[in-house]
Amino acid sequence: MQSSDPVLNDLFSYIATSPSPFHAVAAAAERLEAVGFTQLDEAERWTEPAGRHFVKRSGALIAWVRSDAAGPGTPVRLVGAHTDSPNLRIKPNPDTGRAGYRQLGVEVYGGPLLNSWLDRDLGISGRVFVGSGTSTEQQLVQINSPVARVAQLAIHLDREVNDGLKLDRQQHLAPIWGLGAPTDGDLVAEVAQTIGTSPEEISGFDLMLHDLTVPASLGIDATMYAAPRIDNLASCHAAVIGLIDSGAEDGFSMICLFDHEEVGSGSATGADGAMLAHVLERIELGCGGDRESLLRSTTGSWCVSADGAHAVHPNYLDRYEPDHHVVLNGGPVIKTNTNERYATAADGVAMFRSVCETVGVATQVYSHRTNLACGSTIGPLTAANLGIRTIDVGSAQLSMHSARELGGSEDPALLTAALGAFLAT
Ligand code: ZN
Repeated sequence: MQSSDPVLNDLFSYIATSPSPFHAVAAAAERLEAVGFTQLDEAERWTEPAGRHFVKRSGALIAWVRSDAAGPGTPVRLVGAHTDSPNLRIKPNPDTGRAGYRQLGVEVYGGPLLNSWLDRDLGISGRVFVGSGTSTEQQLVQINSPVARVAQLAIHLDREVNDGLKLDRQQHLAPIWGLGAPTDGDLVAEVAQTIGTSPEEISGFDLMLHDLTVPASLGIDATMYAAPRIDNLASCHAAVIGLIDSGAEDGFSMICLFDHEEVGSGSATGADGAMLAHVLERIELGCGGDRESLLRSTTGSWCVSADGAHAVHPNYLDRYEPDHHVVLNGGPVIKTNTNERYATAADGVAMFRSVCETVGVATQVYSHRTNLACGSTIGPLTAANLGIRTIDVGSAQLSMHSARELGGSEDPALLTAALGAFLAT
């Protein structure tokens, strides 16, 4: 899975070690700690929030660099992205099965291309809480062996399948993970064994399935790459490395990796929750500001919401706006939608283009076909909740929401450079 591009190589490793939002947060924290960022405890009083810090909350992470010289009312340069991807998540009573198979009960998370989960060798990942009462502790789980498979029905038993596959979310997606009769406690026992504890010690879990195929360069000239969760770990990675590389020590720059974007962002760790607003307020107060200076700071602030963009697909040209094709390796895409599915407006376009010019990075523009419903991002939510000017950008990709997506091999470095330059302004 090696590539000669160091950014792409590190992205491959970030994706492979981040099968769940909790892992994506841990892997981001690891990279930040390696260069001197320190974690602040949300339960403690923040007496010195200036400097290089981060907070982690379940599947979300906020990290920032704030100069000691940045007084009350200093505007923030903010990059937002999301740690979650559509997938199959394991139900609270997971042990099920029939007809001589042991299966796992699963719920569809977000809007995956369901067909892309068929006939893949799947592992299990997420987090468990170990212990009881006040002494519970989160432990990450990553079972990277092929333990489960959503087996497709043979074509001989569904002759019309190639005219349009229909999958019932309740009936057709439960993966097989063994033979024989299911027993209550099978899954928890397997997970307990993996992390070296007893099943009785596991008091709660958030577990999901992931495809085991590792990220890889693709194409005869390796100009593309294939990987799971490009949407939106590619943006999370670019934000983290961009913040590290930005060297911004003068002002106030921040990245927010939110959870739950794929299900609407309404949670304690999502972009429609209070987490970011609270962190911004606590930093402002800790740096000697007040509510008035906090609100004043929003006027000069900018947010870049980074998420995947739809590269033009050669086999489906009719699905794209003819004059707004975006391509792999064409640089960051500026996404516009006048119905506010994206937060981009002209002042943001001008700001982002001029930032990209300073580092020699080209940009592209995307507009969704007018007769198709457009997806959305955390951009409009952040703009609405905080009153901060926001622009939606991201790298072009194919197969968005597939278990295995496709990107351009040069785009991760281009997006990283662009976000780093923005954070340094
Ligand atoms: Zn996304």
